[in-house]
Parts: sequence; C-alpha cells; structure tokens
Amino acid sequence: MPGQRRSTLTAWEYLHADLQRGGGQQTREFVRDPEGNVGAFKEFGTNASRMADLVADKRVFGLSISTTYSPTYTTRFEQFFSGGAEFQLNGGSTSRTSFQGTLPEAWIDPNPATHAVDTDAARDGIPAANLGEKTAHELLGHVWAAEVAGLKPGTAEHKRATIQAENEVRRTDPTRGQKTRHHD
Ligand SMILES: [Zn+2]
Repeated sequence: MPGQRRSTLTAWEYLHADLQRGGGQQTREFVRDPEGNVGAFKEFGTNASRMADLVADKRVFGLSISTTYSPTYTTRFEQFFSGGAEFQLNGGSTSRTSFQGTLPEAWIDPNPATHAVDTDAARDGIPAANLGEKTAHELLGHVWAAEVAGLKPGTAEHKRATIQAENEVRRTDPTRGQKTRHHD
C-alpha cells in the first residue's frame, strides 16, 4: 500500500513532537490523529496500531521522560519494601508492567544512550537507541506486549514484540540499522 509508510511516520511525528515539548504526559493525552480519532491509527503500521490499543484502553499507561525511574507497586507488601526507591537510567530506558506487581509505566531518559547501556545495539553494531526508539521499545514493546497482548515479560514472544516496535522506528532512517534480538 503506497500511503502506509507515510502514515506510520505521521503517527510517530505526533508522539515525537509531544516528547520534545516536554513529554511526561499520559499516553492517552497525545495519541490522536488530526481529527482526534484514535481508531484511525489502527490502519497504519504496527506501532500506530499498538498506540491505538493503549489509547483505547480504559487503563492508564504511564510514560515519563526522566533521568530516573521509580516504579509504583500495587501491593502493600511491595510498597513497604520497595516503594519510593529511585534508580538512574544512565541514558537508557526501562519499563514495568502488572506482571512485576507495578502500575504499567515506561521511563525514557532524554539523554543519549551509549553502547554500555544499550548492549543489544552494541552487539549488532548499530547506534544506541535514540528517544523515539527507546520510547517504542518500552511503551509499544514491553508495556503493550504485557498489558494488551498478555505476553509475559522474558518470553520469546514478548521480547520479539519489543524488538519489532523499536525496529519499526529505526526503519524510518536507514542509518539507524536494525536489532536482531532482545538480550536475555
Ligand atoms: Zn527491553
């Protein structure tokens, strides 16, 4: 379909523009097509379709642009022992899902990642993930795979879904290369 690639880029431009404005908003607030129609994204690429899934969902999926992260645990036990601890992202990104007993959320460090942090990129000899690639990996990869597709983190299917999301963004720029797989 001739128009498909362009549509996918357009969806990404919305997300990216929002991230550059400061980001940190919840997903549901910024994933809209020009007419405010969420469902229209479904017919675009894989990532746009996944964004539409997250937005249409009644649950809230967190997306934070931050140099640190602090998961929100949903059980009193975990809240007591792990709640409030803050961790450094060191230019990378991470996410947590309900499988880990937390609210589903992705954290993206706005600073560039290095190969020391993005070991998959180092292994494949490609540039470390940038802002858009990190966001796709965490939000449309890990969070979508766990919460929407029900794929348990650590499984081959779950990991494949994260690399698929990141690679779709990398594909929009030939210099970014493609990842072959997610680390164990
Ligand atoms: Zn990952």
